[in-house]
Amino acid sequence: MPQYRRFTADDAIQFANQHSELFGEHSKLTAVSFGDNHMNQVFRVKNQFNTSLIVKQALPFARGLSDRWPLTLDRSRLEAQALLNFSKAAPLRVVEVLHYDPELAAILMEDLDHLVLLSSALNEGRQYQKLGVQVAEFVANSSFANSDFALDLSAKKSRQIQFLNPEPLQISEDLLLNDPFSNNERNQIDASLYPLAQHLWLDEQLQAKVAALAASFRSKPQTLLHGDLTSRSIFVTADDLKVIDAEFSGFGPIGLDAGLFVGSLMLHYCLTPALQPDVIKARDQQNYLHNQIKLFWQQFQQQFLENCRQQCRDPLFGNELYQKQFVADILHDLTGFAGCELIRQIIGTFKAPALATIQSPAVRLQVCQHALTLGQRLILQHQQANTIDQLLSWLPTGSAQ
Ligand code: ADP
Ligand code: MG
Repeated sequence: MPQYRRFTADDAIQFANQHSELFGEHSKLTAVSFGDNHMNQVFRVKNQFNTSLIVKQALPFARGLSDRWPLTLDRSRLEAQALLNFSKAAPLRVVEVLHYDPELAAILMEDLDHLVLLSSALNEGRQYQKLGVQVAEFVANSSFANSDFALDLSAKKSRQIQFLNPEPLQISEDLLLNDPFSNNERNQIDASLYPLAQHLWLDEQLQAKVAALAASFRSKPQTLLHGDLTSRSIFVTADDLKVIDAEFSGFGPIGLDAGLFVGSLMLHYCLTPALQPDVIKARDQQNYLHNQIKLFWQQFQQQFLENCRQQCRDPLFGNELYQKQFVADILHDLTGFAGCELIRQIIGTFKAPALATIQSPAVRLQVCQHALTLGQRLILQHQQANTIDQLLSWLPTGSAQ
């Protein structure tokens, strides 16, 4: 077994060439790094004919992150195995993993260079009509396949052991449910936002609802989650959509993945008037996001219940009334986690990068106010919200110009 070493560009080339037939004998290979981020390094390995693959290697430390978060390299295995697991249930919606090496903590995967990262595309005002439906297909099918509806008790418990991932889950919990709701030193807040943030930290009702969501995160192992299903983990084209970056996977409530996706689209909704100077185009983009959130909600609900009707393996969970209640509970969690996602993108450690591109401090403050108010409302009402129209009626009106 090879021992872990931090890959150079040459190591990435060798790793890609060794584990794929794609390049062939006469290939001249080069590797370009995407730049190190906090926890991994990612290389694009390419030959002279522009055939390319991606190598992602986990780093043994989290750069710039707290000492509270030691990281094992095992998360690379978990990421590869989670992507392979999801691809069985939603074959078209997941990046293809070609090889992974647990010792080197490295994954070789298909290059999605013919698609674009959803977060960048939405910031540029682009629209993908199949977005909501395709993400709903991914969440409904992958979450169903790892749930008690599809696995018997023994298979589910084995899978929970296979995907034990306490360290990344601790980071998720801290970043999503802990830090933004307390005056934590890791938060990065503009002085102008401080009074609003303080308002959240002192709101007892809100804190109680966040505690309920944290309990759901910890003690509701309904399925194998992606764990970070925001617009930064999704690649798209007009027809295609693929999910990447599953290193935060682990068992938890289905509403988490669904809620992170919805919260992420709602954040784009709040950002749109600040990023798009043309008022009519901004309104059109907001209508688009509004519709995609609605389509996601409806399609998820429909697809999950359809899976229950057609593929439920355990008679214990065959009762239709129970299945409907189960989905209603997912939608409550979804609502609450969407609220947390909005708030963490405004006052957490890793704020939405698009915020920094807004020149005017007044406009930026207004976007933040909109996102925080919406997030707060979603969390406070998450156990009551039953229809998507109710949630959408809370989206901010008025432009940030
Ligand atoms: P991290 O979790 O460390 O942020 P990601 O898996 O999100 O790592 O990858 C970081 C960046 O590398 C992505 O935003 C994207 O630009 C690029 N990338 C990762 N995987 C692929 C892929 N399969 N195809 C194309 N680009 C990729
Ligand atoms: Mg990641």
